[in-house]
Amino acid sequence: MTKTFHIVVLGGDGIGPEVCDQSVRLLQQMQPHLDGVEFHLDPHDVGVGEYQRSGEALPDSAFEACLASDAVLLGAMGLPNVRYPNGKEIAPQLDLRERLQLYGGVRPIQLFHESDTPLKDYGAGDIDFVLVRESTEGLFYGRDAVADLSADEATNQLRISRQASERVCRLSFELARRRGGKKKVSLIDKANVLSTMVYFRHIFDEVAKDFPDVTAEHVYVDAMALFMVRRPHDFDVMVTENMFGDILSDLAAGIVGGMGMAPSGDIGDNAAVFQPSHGSAPDIAGRSLANPIAMHLSTAMMLDWLDHPETKRGAEALKAAVADVLSDPNQRTADMGGKLSTVEITDRISRSLDRQL
Ligand code: ATP
Ligand code: MG
Repeated sequence: MTKTFHIVVLGGDGIGPEVCDQSVRLLQQMQPHLDGVEFHLDPHDVGVGEYQRSGEALPDSAFEACLASDAVLLGAMGLPNVRYPNGKEIAPQLDLRERLQLYGGVRPIQLFHESDTPLKDYGAGDIDFVLVRESTEGLFYGRDAVADLSADEATNQLRISRQASERVCRLSFELARRRGGKKKVSLIDKANVLSTMVYFRHIFDEVAKDFPDVTAEHVYVDAMALFMVRRPHDFDVMVTENMFGDILSDLAAGIVGGMGMAPSGDIGDNAAVFQPSHGSAPDIAGRSLANPIAMHLSTAMMLDWLDHPETKRGAEALKAAVADVLSDPNQRTADMGGKLSTVEITDRISRSLDRQL
């Protein structure tokens, strides 16, 4: 019996479609090698480009397709100079997060080759941790506020709710258990200053009681910025508030080769969206300069998350193909000091993938 997975593909803006097309190509290559699995790929136009064409950045038909899908593969969305008439950012990827209640931003950070980290002097060879970012509230709760430039001040809200905190902490402990490595979850907070963080810590501690086999610890966010650079190999799973997670994920990406190396999955109870951690990078769009590896690793995360033995095998094969190509430091895109284009590095991953499957 064949299992069909409905996968909505949203290329988006800037380099989004370029990297997304390359991942789709690898998925199509993989499909005949996976026993009893079929991918039904359903592309939709979403993003700033679509807003300019139709007046809707996230058309209902695309949203409905995401709702009904098994998973969503997303390139990148948004462009810096195009906004809604009220000045608000056009960010359908954030709207999707909210409307699909994708509360856990899961960002695996892995160093494939030691030549790609700026931390060689710290002996930080073995970097392999996952940052989980709460994605529905925190300091992003105020993102709809419009600044009154004639007023004497501006404030934003930071919201921490029991429900959102509990579910993201639970997700993190379950992830640590599933990874089966150090089995440690580090809460990153600022409980010495913010009452919201005292509350977050309290809920984290409550959830931790249900996972006696997993070590739980608290780290202040400022200290974590230092530790991530000095001893990243000490961490396994980290969980944090939305804005801290936003900032730390760029730092984390920086220690393993940059934004082009950082995949992510936005996980909810009923839906999941997989996309690179980077944005639409309009400065390099349309020139086949983008590093597609974050996108390919996001695709591997999706295959793993689909939780079928054959898609899991596909996920392992894809990751192995990426590792194989990166094992030669001469095979890199421009962002990592190399000369290969988006398509050329994918060609090499594709050749290796054939051997892995
Ligand atoms: P967002 O607001 O969506 O996070 P951003 O403004 O932070 O977006 P990004 O698009 O994430 O910006 O990336 C910042 C810069 O990093 C880009 O302008 C680009 O030069 C570089 N960059 C990002 N992703 C890649 C990639 N996949 N390959 C190569 N360079 C990249
Ligand atoms: Mg960014």
